[in-house]
Amino acid sequence: MKMRVANMFVLGLMAVMLSGCPESMMAESDSVDAKVAELVSKMTVEEKVGQMTQLTLETVSSRKDEHVQLNMDKLREALVKRHVGSILNCGGAANTVANWQEIITTIQDISTKETRLGIPNIYGVDSIHGANYIVGATMFPQSFAMAATGNVELAVKEGEIAAQEMRAAGLAWNFNPVLGLGRQPLWSRFWETYGEDPYMAATLGAAYISGQQGDDMAAADRVGTCMKHYLGYSVPLSGKDRTPVGIPQRVLRELFVPPFKAAVDAGTPTAMVNSSEISGVPVHSSDFALKTLLREELGFEGFVVSDWEDIKNLYTREKVAADNRQAVKMAVMAGVDMSMVPYDYSFTDALIDLVKTGEVPESRIDEAVSRILKVKFQLGLFDDPYPKQEMVAKFASAESTKINRQAASEAITLLKNDNDVLPLAKGKKVLVAGPTANLLSVMNGGWSITWQGNQEDLYPQEKKTILEAVQDKVGAENVTYMQGTTMDKDINIQMTLEKARQADVIIACIGEPTYCEGPGNINDLTLEQAQLNLVNALRRTGKPIILVLVEGRPRVISDIVDAADGIIMAYLPGMEGGVAVADVIFGDVNPSGKLPFTYPRFASGFVTYDHKNSETYDPQWGFGHGLSYTTFACSNLKLGKSRISDSEPLTVSVDVKNTGKRAGKETVQLYLSDLVRSVTPPVKQLKRFTKISLEPGETRTVEFTLDPCDLSFIGRDNKRVIEPGEFKIAIGDQTAGFAVK
Ligand code: BGC
Repeated sequence: MKMRVANMFVLGLMAVMLSGCPESMMAESDSVDAKVAELVSKMTVEEKVGQMTQLTLETVSSRKDEHVQLNMDKLREALVKRHVGSILNCGGAANTVANWQEIITTIQDISTKETRLGIPNIYGVDSIHGANYIVGATMFPQSFAMAATGNVELAVKEGEIAAQEMRAAGLAWNFNPVLGLGRQPLWSRFWETYGEDPYMAATLGAAYISGQQGDDMAAADRVGTCMKHYLGYSVPLSGKDRTPVGIPQRVLRELFVPPFKAAVDAGTPTAMVNSSEISGVPVHSSDFALKTLLREELGFEGFVVSDWEDIKNLYTREKVAADNRQAVKMAVMAGVDMSMVPYDYSFTDALIDLVKTGEVPESRIDEAVSRILKVKFQLGLFDDPYPKQEMVAKFASAESTKINRQAASEAITLLKNDNDVLPLAKGKKVLVAGPTANLLSVMNGGWSITWQGNQEDLYPQEKKTILEAVQDKVGAENVTYMQGTTMDKDINIQMTLEKARQADVIIACIGEPTYCEGPGNINDLTLEQAQLNLVNALRRTGKPIILVLVEGRPRVISDIVDAADGIIMAYLPGMEGGVAVADVIFGDVNPSGKLPFTYPRFASGFVTYDHKNSETYDPQWGFGHGLSYTTFACSNLKLGKSRISDSEPLTVSVDVKNTGKRAGKETVQLYLSDLVRSVTPPVKQLKRFTKISLEPGETRTVEFTLDPCDLSFIGRDNKRVIEPGEFKIAIGDQTAGFAVK
């Protein structure tokens, strides 16, 4: 007997919605809807289409002496004459809190006081690892590193801190979280994801949203999120950004939809569309993605914003429309509510005309505008669209820096530690080498101060590079620094070798420059030869080598893995990354990160951990791998029942013991395997995880509850189903079986 789990959930959800919704909430949302309807009834077509138009700040400003200066004529043209409802971006580089406050105050003054209806502007930015477009902000590890922490509470905290800092500057709308899956390691935006696993992405994405939005997005310390890039953007077949994706519907529903479903359930009010195409259909023109799936199945009620210039791209790049007019009609009718145009009024003019000629029904733009205005109400912009002065005191506070440092520390993942070479004793002479040792930019990556994140001179000089943090640990007199190579060219490898011979230990920091989107495209996943040469040359000295990988995707390093005694994955650990790396190297922090993706051994034939039985999994390091300076042992794996029905929850418990000599944190991961089913099963899937802290000798019993949905999959008819049969649970080296009747 098969059961449609989806139906059960919809019914369950409806029951909660009908029974669990307090009267006051219903009344409030009714009154927002009434206010929206009243406003829309007063709007002209031009005003409505203006609300659907989003321009970039560069269009209405210039930059002088590190400051954005608004061009008041162009700004009034946009806001007053063209009724533009949204502006985005930072005008080139991060602005100070004060400069942001001026910009936002001016924009909101004009929007609310100089326009007929006084509708506030909704300003959007990419605060994807903290409020990265505000000078001095708390800049967290990038999302794939946040996933490595395995610490859901830290994802909530990141959301909270970014929200406080954004609101101090007057920013209320964040184009984050990124909910695509990192299953294409070549992709230049790999690091913006929470890694390869859908459950992990769903859990951390929802946690981040709760931190950003709290119970009330209008609160002074909260903002609205934007789930992106809906849907299926992250796995381009070629590995190059914004190139075709080919995901069959079953796989789309199985792997790529769940994080977005979790974000909708967590209350994200907006969605940004995948710039690319799935199986030949650009998502900006996909009725299936934007209506059937998003609205009818996932129940999303917010508004949909295009990605950068992507309505234009329907005719300039994708060639599914012959001209701008056709592209605008196609995207709006498919369900795009707001166009990130972002430089001109081509969308605005075309849409006004399309409505006036009846080619786009006015009811469709009423629907789009209503959704946009509703989010403006939910964000409190009609009551107070201005910067929240009371948040300035919280900006980059010592407490936020401390949490950021904890996040970086918990992300750092110890991949290899032969003969316990790590932690290093502090009395040694150290050679620090490599192109990522002495830069802040490489630890932050793209979307850091600038779009590409590569302007080192704009980084706060008081923050520590890895080299500086190592010097702080052991004294500058004990540290020699030789870069050895640039990212891809030998500078002084020979001289570096000479210095290495005088040192006790070598810390080689290798990896990638900063990049983002198209400029980060690569042709070969293997790390640049010059860096491999540096490490292979250093090996000849016979000195212990610690590799620190500072990179946004798992670059293949199989050629040098044997040369290293210890290998640390630093990811893109953010502003506190240097200190966090040094803390781990010298043992002030016991590493607890675990890889949230598969680290490949070869540059081609990438296989994820949740592969099929027919595939061979032979990675350099597997998903979930990460060593500690202590050891943990699992025992006593127990299931609440050995047979359950297909609608029963299942409890699982396991004892985890710290069997080593120092305190440590461990992410306990529960994997489920459906042994036989009608669609070939993955060998295992992560279903739960939690991070615990254990003193030496301490044992903790960890309990999880699996829901029926965890046992389900997308069946041959593309619908969610549970099939009876045998299942296996694994936690650490413990396994246990159960049957579904
Ligand atoms: C990116 C989005 C981003 C937008 C606005 C686009 O190029 O794909 O992720 O939110 O720019 O900056």
